[in-house]
Formats: sequence, structure tokens, C-alpha cells
Amino acid sequence: MSPQAAEVAQLPHRPEAQRQTTQIRAARPQVVGPDFPESPFPILLAGPVQKGFGRGGKELGCPTANLPDESITPISSVVKQGVYYGYAQEDVRVLPMVMSLGWNPFYKNEILTAEIHIMHEFRSDFYGYEMKALVLGYIRPELDYTSREALIEDIEVDKRVALNSLARPQYEKYKEDPHFDLSCTLPAS
Ligand code: ADP
Ligand code: MG
Repeated sequence: MSPQAAEVAQLPHRPEAQRQTTQIRAARPQVVGPDFPESPFPILLAGPVQKGFGRGGKELGCPTANLPDESITPISSVVKQGVYYGYAQEDVRVLPMVMSLGWNPFYKNEILTAEIHIMHEFRSDFYGYEMKALVLGYIRPELDYTSREALIEDIEVDKRVALNSLARPQYEKYKEDPHFDLSCTLPAS
């Protein structure tokens, strides 16, 4: 136990960290960004889905399709790491997504990586498939988490915020953007 943890353990009333973070989470805005995507959005990304470290994406209930490093160049002007929202096309459907943009420890944090969670239950993996994405807005910075539960809860909030933010007409219309291959798309239901 660290000296601080030992100190806290001695307190008659321990700080209720769980509740505090829940309160902060509840205070997060449910819709983010302006009423229509503003520069530098929309940002177009595309590339074949890569194998990542497999570090618990599926365990966290949030698998992320990783884009190849080269495909991130268009977003390098938005170097802020963080969580973003937009649409992604996997095969025949254009669906809402949340994207985490972060520094890749494998490259000594010199390269940003983009990982996209598509809000849809897929029956199988789609490694190697060409994925296209339109990034339309910023949700929040990347945070350090002290617990897996806190991270999972925040991801759930991110997904809700993304869906709410994308439900505005000026965002929804990007589902039909020519960046996507619409010749073969099916309705997203
Ligand atoms: P990795 O580290 O290899 O990226 P993940 O645990 O993050 O492993 O799983 C990512 C893979 O899961 C994706 O490449 C894709 O093939 C598959 N997958 C299944 N459902 C989804 C989804 N809803 N969003 C993104 N990827 C998904
Ligand atoms: Mg992943």
C-alpha cells in the first residue's frame, strides 16, 4: 500500500471516490460540439483494419478497429489526442462510431493511432477489410483511469454522447457523404 493509500485507509470517513466520479460523469454534456461540423471537421480516414495488441477491447465490451498508421496523416493537423465521434463504413453499412486517437507506446509514443468502435454488434471480425470513416467532432481528452469500471462507464457515456451528437440533421447527412462507398450500402437498421 502506498503511503497516501495507508493514510486514506486510516481516515474515519473514507472519500467516496466511486460516487465522485459518478457525479462527474453524470455532469458530462450529453451533446457536444456546434450544431454543424466546423473546421477541421469533417476529417476523412480510410485504410484496411489492422491487428492491434488485442488489449482487452473485447473484454471492455468495446472492440476497436485499428487503422493503419499511414492512414492517420489527414488527422495529424488535429494532433490533440482524445475521443472523437463520426461515422464509419464497414462493408455495406455506414454506422455511428466513436474513435480514440492516442499515442502508440509501441513507437515510443511518436505515432498517433486511431481506433474506431463502431456502434453495431458484428457477428464476426473484419480484420483486413477496408474501413472508411468521417470524423465529425471531438468528445473529450484521453484520461487516465484508476479502475476498469470507470473506463467502461466513460466509454458508455462516450457512445451515448456520440449518438446524441450525431442525431442532429447537419451531422446525420454525412452518412450519405461521397467519401463512403454508397453504391453497395444497406440501410443501417
Ligand atoms: P485489436 O487490438 O486487434 O484491435 P480489439 O479487441 O480492439 O483487438 O478488437 C478489434 C476487432 O474486433 C476489429 O478489428 C474488428 O475486426 C472486430 N470488431 C467486432 N465488432 C466491432 C465493433 N463494433 N467495432 C469495431 N471493431 C469490431
Ligand atoms: Mg483495437
